[in-house]
Amino acid sequence: MNILVINAGSSSLKYQLLNPQTGSLLAKGLCERIGIDGKFTYKPQVEGKAALEAVDVAMPTHSEAIQAVLDALVDGKNGVIGSMKEIDAVGHRVVHGGEKFAKSVLITDEVMAAIEECNPLAPLHNPANIIGIKACQALMPGTPMVAVFDTAFHQTMPPQAYMYALPYEYYAQDKVRRYGFHGTSHKYVASRAAAMLGRPIEELKLISCHLGNGSSVTAVDGGRSVDTSMGFTPLAGVPMGTRSGDLDAGILQYLMNKHGLNIDEMLGVLNKKSGVQGVSGVSSDFRDLETAFKGGNERAGLAVDMFNYGVKKLIGAYAAAMGGVDAVIFTAGVGENSASQRLAIASGLEFMGIKMDETANNVRGKETVISAADSKVKVLLIPTNEELMIAMDTASIVSGK
Ligand code: AMP
Repeated sequence: MNILVINAGSSSLKYQLLNPQTGSLLAKGLCERIGIDGKFTYKPQVEGKAALEAVDVAMPTHSEAIQAVLDALVDGKNGVIGSMKEIDAVGHRVVHGGEKFAKSVLITDEVMAAIEECNPLAPLHNPANIIGIKACQALMPGTPMVAVFDTAFHQTMPPQAYMYALPYEYYAQDKVRRYGFHGTSHKYVASRAAAMLGRPIEELKLISCHLGNGSSVTAVDGGRSVDTSMGFTPLAGVPMGTRSGDLDAGILQYLMNKHGLNIDEMLGVLNKKSGVQGVSGVSSDFRDLETAFKGGNERAGLAVDMFNYGVKKLIGAYAAAMGGVDAVIFTAGVGENSASQRLAIASGLEFMGIKMDETANNVRGKETVISAADSKVKVLLIPTNEELMIAMDTASIVSGK
């Protein structure tokens, strides 16, 4: 079975063609500058097939972008399938499913209407996801399409975890609550953790640390998300590349008055100029911060320390929330690659049974145990694979399993 996974943004579109049963990737790539001029990248993963790197392809709309993807996949010379009939279904990443979607769903007209109703909750992302779905439907009539939501995995959170202490009407009428994001990634690594530990997920208490440019930490009890650090929007939680993470809302009024900022400008600062970029003044990329710190830049060191400390506090908090923890998982760009940050986050947690193995931790991008053999709580490095999770969900929905 081949599943085409589409992640459509407003001017870009990422795609992968994969087989969810074997986990094998046939091709992947990217359409960029949609609506501007159009750059197309195609990376077949089959021997002897040539790649295309940012070649010019006119893409006035997402339709031309998806047509370019389909043309490349079935191309007589460098394609990886014989015809479009070999694409069994399409899995679409959708950022926000609100409270309507607690799991992935086959896309129907009613589902499309319900996704559109979630647009105000993710005005930058959902409309682009919808454009991607519509363009695909027009080009691939008859091929089943599935929506996989970033928020769905977190719909199992109990009210005390998802409510904000605001007047209740803001929840009841305006749907203001914690939704959480990166759900596809947290779900994937949690299921891999159960496989690695050789135990049913229903018995496990896991803390999943998705640490990348955007970061979130999730408590997974018995395979269900019970708390997560991102909130109503992906701005909340730990400091991120350019996002502030949690802060005292009183700061907004103080700074807006002092600097004559309106709310859009203030949110621009919190989303794009804050986080480790804002604190360090150097970069949002943790590799640059490490280099700058080694070169004597104290603020770069402070930014990384603040990030690591934020993650460490959440590990403690979520262990308390679940009444224990069997394993802590590190994933995404920083979690998969930075041995020093994993060590900094986990050190000092020996009191709760976490003991790292520094040699085992000295790896990157590989599914492996990085805690000591006698560590009560296992620490796992698990590369995330959101596309595979989307393909697996899509396959199980279209095959009715
Ligand atoms: P992601 O959002 O998951 O793609 O993660 C991207 C982030 O991972 C980048 O901004 C880097 O800061 C971080 N990253 C990637 N490789 C490394 C590394 N070797 N050491 C530290 N951070 C890394």
